[in-house]
Amino acid sequence: MVELLRTISELRARLSAIRRNGAAIGLVPTMGALHAGHGRLLEKAVADGGFVVASIFVNPTQFHREDDFQSYPRDLATDLAFCERRNVDAAFVPDADEMYAGEPLTSVVVSGLTEHLCGPQRPGHFEGVATVVTKLLNIVQPDRAYFGEKDRQQLVVIRRVVKDLDIPVEIIGVPTVREPDGLALSSRNQLLSSGERQAATVLYRAIRKAEELVQAGETCPGEVMKQGLAVFESEPSARVEYFEVVDPEQLQPVDEIKAPVLIAGAAHLGATRLIDNILVEARE
Ligand code: AMP
Repeated sequence: MVELLRTISELRARLSAIRRNGAAIGLVPTMGALHAGHGRLLEKAVADGGFVVASIFVNPTQFHREDDFQSYPRDLATDLAFCERRNVDAAFVPDADEMYAGEPLTSVVVSGLTEHLCGPQRPGHFEGVATVVTKLLNIVQPDRAYFGEKDRQQLVVIRRVVKDLDIPVEIIGVPTVREPDGLALSSRNQLLSSGERQAATVLYRAIRKAEELVQAGETCPGEVMKQGLAVFESEPSARVEYFEVVDPEQLQPVDEIKAPVLIAGAAHLGATRLIDNILVEARE
């Protein structure tokens, strides 16, 4: 049975008993509406051994639009059954009052890594993410924590927080799980109409086009972006938010493409915003 823990004190009491027995602790932070992408993180955590905690918390401070927060899918019973099937040991499901009791005055701001990609489009988002993840790492004190490469900027930001604040945890990145047509799995995909769902693959197709050009030796980021953006013309219902070629560590635009390079984009399909990225590690 997956144990449901709703308060920080309950979770801490449980984990200190686990630690006394010498077991390692793995943490998989999520916002719920679990799908096979989350499943891959949970399976990896369970395979790595020890006691695995999944946190399920739709963190209000990382949403900059109230309607996006309100419409975010939530289904706790299904999520708990999902965790149970994957042999997750405990689900930490706090409410916002538990996580943000007493109107906190402290937050974690990572400058530099948030000037591009999702940063400018979602003011306060990464501050909300970095703060809630720091809190979860302090609450759980895991040996390992798992994050998806689908949210690459988040992964890079969290690695930096852990390094800069000397948090003793190993951060493990997990490759993106995709639908057969390439669309990256996302909790938001269930908000798409069937037409939007079909159109949504344009984001992956554009990123793949850019990847092909880089693999073929194109070194000019402007050219790669131009041809990537041209792919969106086949799908006028998709609105591109950004499409960028950046350095995978600093997340800054590059003047000349030398692999490794990160190609990342965001697009709106109706009211739903989707993101995706591919890391081109080396030219083939
Ligand atoms: P979320 O619930 O969207 O906050 O995601 C929780 C974790 O699951 C994050 O580390 C995400 O990067 C990861 N994740 C979400 N979708 C995918 C996916 N398609 N493949 C791999 N990891 C994912």
